[in-house]
Amino acid sequence: MTATVADILRLATPGVQGLSPYQPGKPIEELEREYGVTGAIKLASNENPLGPSPRALAAARAALADIHRYPDGNGFVLKSALARKHGIAPECITLGNGSNDILEFLARAFVLPENEVIFSEHAFAVYPIVTRAVDAKAVVIPAKNWGHDLAAMRAAVNARTRLVFIANPNNPTGTWLKADELEAFIGAMPAHVLVAVDEAYFEYVEEREYPNTIGWTAKYPNLVTARTFSKAYGLAGLRVGYGVSSPAVADVLNRVRQPFNVNSVALAAATAALEDTAHVARAVQTNRDGMGQLIEAFTELGLEYIPSAGNFICVDFKRPAAAMYEALLRQGVIVRPIANYGMPNHLRITVGLPEENRRFIEALRKIVRDR
Ligand SMILES: *Cc1c(COP(=O)(O)O)cnc(C)c1O
Repeated sequence: MTATVADILRLATPGVQGLSPYQPGKPIEELEREYGVTGAIKLASNENPLGPSPRALAAARAALADIHRYPDGNGFVLKSALARKHGIAPECITLGNGSNDILEFLARAFVLPENEVIFSEHAFAVYPIVTRAVDAKAVVIPAKNWGHDLAAMRAAVNARTRLVFIANPNNPTGTWLKADELEAFIGAMPAHVLVAVDEAYFEYVEEREYPNTIGWTAKYPNLVTARTFSKAYGLAGLRVGYGVSSPAVADVLNRVRQPFNVNSVALAAATAALEDTAHVARAVQTNRDGMGQLIEAFTELGLEYIPSAGNFICVDFKRPAAAMYEALLRQGVIVRPIANYGMPNHLRITVGLPEENRRFIEALRKIVRDR
């Protein structure tokens, strides 16, 4: 006897029934297989085009010798390094298998089905996933100029609200919030509401008024800052991220954490990557230059874009962008369609190496001129 997907889906919780799986960027190998092209480039997943720090790579290799052992379940060495870097106590840190793990812990540890979770329209796809996975109600607040409308988000808070997700900068739009407006929002939250500020692109942001909310966690016991090694640190494949919060919140998050959620190779690589500030600086410089390259091309081609503080940028084709996406694929360039973020006319482009950006621009120019 076999069961259909529909049969099994009926057994899932109502929240899970309403979920669609996360759509990742198309892998290079898949494109080359399906389209018969070679030398394809991927500007689709906001990865660091420079790759990992050589020091992280050496540490990862050295750690391989001990992979018959369980990792340090408390991540002592990495937590100590993070505590030193941020000037906080190790008790404030929760390590995650990617920062997505932290976002999920928050939902699992704090949110009941009768609770509401608030986040913005066009915000990161993981927020609805972790919310619906615990059968809670997702309260999606319409965006303002593609960014978070903090006043509307604040107005949506009620007795059932337990968690608010804020991406700063936001993925996929690249919009960002200033220190004063964000701190006013956090300060206005009642004690029964946790605020998760997702700073996955923190290292890339160069705007003067952009906040470092880790410095606020001592003042706001309901604030959690999420950071990752997946973006500027170039370790997306190893899956390491962390939350910084009051020790009380970290204590709760660590209760739902699997004992060995971050593997030993990842712990070693992340610790080494943290020390290699020169590599991060190179990544930021590469991003600044590449962003300039892309913006210049969009301007020349008369394409509107959303100014971005991250390592990616959304360009507006003023018509469904699926055909543009396909045309780019045929030229061996993978970017990210974001119709599932409610942005069917945009494509999100990750800033690559100068040569990758040039190839994307060339392909784009050909398509735009031909249409
Ligand atoms: C990429 C990204 C993350 C990072 O996820 P990891 O699980 O750490 O790889 C988190 N939040 C946002 C908004 C992102 O774009």
